[in-house]
Amino acid sequence: MGYQHRQQSIQGLDVLDMPVGKVVCVGRNYAEHAKELNNPIPAEPILFLKPATALVPMESGWGIPADQGACHIETEMALLIGAPLTKASEPECLAAIAGVGIGFDLTLREVQSRLKDNGHPWEIAKAIDGSCPLSAFVSADTMDWSSVELRLQRNGQWQQDGNSGDMITPVAQLLAFITRHFTLLPGDVVLTGTPAGVGPISTGDSLRAILSCDKSGVDPLMVESVVAEPQA
Ligand code: ZN
Repeated sequence: MGYQHRQQSIQGLDVLDMPVGKVVCVGRNYAEHAKELNNPIPAEPILFLKPATALVPMESGWGIPADQGACHIETEMALLIGAPLTKASEPECLAAIAGVGIGFDLTLREVQSRLKDNGHPWEIAKAIDGSCPLSAFVSADTMDWSSVELRLQRNGQWQQDGNSGDMITPVAQLLAFITRHFTLLPGDVVLTGTPAGVGPISTGDSLRAILSCDKSGVDPLMVESVVAEPQA
């Protein structure tokens, strides 16, 4: 069985009766991350897509390609879309968020550098099968979108620690901008950009990703996973 969206409940994980759609991602939404890759801060959001086939459940085994150079991990707040949005207002966008979770935007960094140098699209670096491990979602009804903390621990060391208050384009504006270009449908996912601290991962790494918000009634979400052997 392929990937399905899941919701975290007190009992465990429930499969959501929702289609699995595209993933809309934003590049360089945190100034510190743009700086660490020597990229200029963009004047408007840089969008790219991952297809539904990029999705894999974060909590079960997922691997990375063995033969394509460094694979970087970017830990991002993931928004599950619950209603159709076309050229939508910011309040309409916020009302359509059906859940919040954590996504890894896995990136073949050496492949991406080559593509960037040649002015080519990034898909074979960022949109390949399995390039988007996704956690289960929790309800976002009481979420304070301006103060969501996102952290990644790798092999016991803190590697990423960011706060949505530092986003260049905050959640409501980002969603409205996206819907000016792409219709979002129920079951689509938006990844909201990575804070600084991205770096390579290897087979066997233990990862712990945490999303929390002190200013909301939303329980912190913590997901542990281990990078598995690559699929033959
Ligand atoms: Zn990213």
